[in-house]
Amino acid sequence: MDLEQMWQSTLGEMQIQLSKAHFATWLKNSQLVEKKDDTIVVALPNNFTKTWVENKYQKNLLGIMRGFDGSVKKIEFVVGGKYFAQPTTIEAQEVDGIDLDFKTDPETGLNPKYRLSSFVVGPSNELAFAAATAITESIGKKYNPFFVYGGVGLGKTHLIQGIGNEIIFKHKGRVKPKYVSSEQFTRDIVWGLRNDRIESIKKKYRDVDVLIIDDIQFIGGKEKTEEEFFHTFNALYENDKQIIISSDRPPQSLPVLEDRLRSRFEGGLIADIAYPEFEMRVAIIKSKLDDMNRHLSDPVINLVAKKLRKNIRELEGVLKKIIFTQERKQTDITERMAEEIINKATQNTSKRISDTQILKAVAEFFNLTIEDIVSHTRRKEIVEPRQIAIYLLRDISDLSYPYIGEKLGRDHTTAIHSYEKINNEINRDPGLNQKILMIKDLIYKS
Ligand code: ADP
Ligand code: MG
Repeated sequence: MDLEQMWQSTLGEMQIQLSKAHFATWLKNSQLVEKKDDTIVVALPNNFTKTWVENKYQKNLLGIMRGFDGSVKKIEFVVGGKYFAQPTTIEAQEVDGIDLDFKTDPETGLNPKYRLSSFVVGPSNELAFAAATAITESIGKKYNPFFVYGGVGLGKTHLIQGIGNEIIFKHKGRVKPKYVSSEQFTRDIVWGLRNDRIESIKKKYRDVDVLIIDDIQFIGGKEKTEEEFFHTFNALYENDKQIIISSDRPPQSLPVLEDRLRSRFEGGLIADIAYPEFEMRVAIIKSKLDDMNRHLSDPVINLVAKKLRKNIRELEGVLKKIIFTQERKQTDITERMAEEIINKATQNTSKRISDTQILKAVAEFFNLTIEDIVSHTRRKEIVEPRQIAIYLLRDISDLSYPYIGEKLGRDHTTAIHSYEKINNEINRDPGLNQKILMIKDLIYKS
């Protein structure tokens, strides 16, 4: 067995021992450099990975290798290696064994914690994920620009940062991605204009191969920023550079964007990320537990998945609280304990919106009265607003179907049907999605 074969077999063994996400994050891009006397030298892409692998996997790796070659006594890790880009200085810190404090690379704006390999895929995000994966292989060609939209905490940032990180790993420094929030972009432009440095700011953004802009809905308001974004966009686009954009709503609902920009977005691929369904929420919880090396019983996992439906960030937060409690109390969490933690955590986040606020906003949006909405008429122009009202009462306030039914003078099966109908259509019909976002705006502003 030659050295390379031995290393590949060692990796194969590790792959069996580790979760998919862990293997992909820590070892997939490792490389055997040489054998110096009794020492094997392995290269890792950056300091961060090196620190991690040294602390967590060194013993294991050595054990496996010694099984193949008894003369190996030591394993040494270096950053770099002939195939790697310059090392980035990112350091890991483990907080309570739960949180990994990853640091953003100042050059690319990317945070290594977001990997495509740790992105759980299901019906609500599979198109967006497929496009993301395709882009890492065919940069600037296939889906350009790539526009992804969806609600808060549903994985937009994770996905688009994941593309950037994947490109770094796959193309090892040959392709330059840059991630920026649209607030940061706006700040840069304003700063450049004020300090007569706009040319260098322009260069900074036009000098990349993949430009990733997060939360584009926050751009603009300032004409000059939008103008600059448009020119940057064109400059990159014309040079076949990849552009990736995220937003909380579809392009046609971005009020601030000029038409010329909107139509550019519409010329690429637009994908949405919807709410994850139950099975997917379970899968996400399991994968996060796996990452944290923690365990919870199935009933508790199911309970968390059942209760936290609309925001993966919130779901993760609750999960960490449960684990923290488990560790502090040194006892397995029961369903009852979990329920208590969940209730406490979600109480604080959802500031109570009254039923009337919701009905009023729907009525206002469609130019109707609340009486119209709760009336028994089946007129077409009332039916949809009524269904949307039902959807929002459930979506925002998590009210029971019988309660919602009663509120609108209907039985609970009608309430279920209306909710399901809107919930399904919202994923297919950007126009409907837009209406709902605008009504939510009205509700939260009231
Ligand atoms: P957004 O940018 O849409 O508000 P984020 O990308 O910040 O949402 O995601 C919120 C949290 O949920 C992050 O910690 C992210 O890792 C996690 N997350 C979201 N979607 C997924 C997924 N499909 N698989 C695994 N984790 C996810
Ligand atoms: Mg985000």
